Amino acid sequence: ETSWQGKVVFVTGAASGIGKAQCKTFLSVGATVFGVDVAEMEQCLTKHANFYFAQADVGNKFEVDQAVARCLEKTKQIDVLINTAGILDAYKPTLETDEQLWDQVMRVNVKGTYLVTNAVLPSMLKRKKGKIVNMASIAGLITGGGGAAYTASKHAIIGYTKQLVHDYAALGIRANALAPGAIKTPMNAADFSGSGEMAQWVANETPARRWANPEEVAKLTLFIASEAADYIHGAVIPIDGGWLCK
Ligand code: NAD
Repeated sequence: ETSWQGKVVFVTGAASGIGKAQCKTFLSVGATVFGVDVAEMEQCLTKHANFYFAQADVGNKFEVDQAVARCLEKTKQIDVLINTAGILDAYKPTLETDEQLWDQVMRVNVKGTYLVTNAVLPSMLKRKKGKIVNMASIAGLITGGGGAAYTASKHAIIGYTKQLVHDYAALGIRANALAPGAIKTPMNAADFSGSGEMAQWVANETPARRWANPEEVAKLTLFIASEAADYIHGAVIPIDGGWLCK
């Protein structure tokens, strides 16, 4: 079993939803957590003794490099990188996706993952070990989980994760992707607005007949980052209540 004491976990998108749950879960097992988000972090976590936070935009190389440098100054190492920061595209088909929306989604979801990975990876390679967990989505495997830009971005995350395995597994790096389905977070708050018809439709269409909580994705993240998963490379793990089985 992994002892998380003294292990350092770097989480992007730490201020909300799945990222926040990941921070809490890793803190609860004794890890040190360095969170990054473009938004401010809520008080309760920032008061935790083993939690550090830097406000940074994952699409901005300067800010990313600064945040990673600050983390390494404080913690000396990063054992696990979790690329969770991401944005949705309001389910827009390509003809309704203007260039600005396309660029925005690709910048956060794809370029952000690339920039943070490139900032963290050299320190992992020096130690010949490190785990990377990228947040894809069922939208990285099938259609309809997002619009044109979001679906393209999550398919890209899966390809990027597999290429990390191809290039760095032999050097001690273990990369995987998670593919959540319907997770109840602020990202899909709109589905729950009004009479919540959309949220109900999603639950009815899901074989498990419910949404998941972000904590369930955080627990899967803990497993995939742990020693118990040490031979798992380049997997795309659905956590979707059976959506992909339909
Ligand atoms: P969320 O909106 O609750 O949290 C996302 C966080 O990312 C926010 O705190 C936001 O401020 C941050 N963020 C956005 N742009 C950023 C940037 N440029 N730099 C740094 N941080 C930035 O959403 P969530 O549901 O927790 O989503 C987390 C990840 O999980 C995303 O990648 C999302 O695509 C993925 N995902 C979510 C679901 C779901 O149903 N909620 C399903 C599949 C995949």
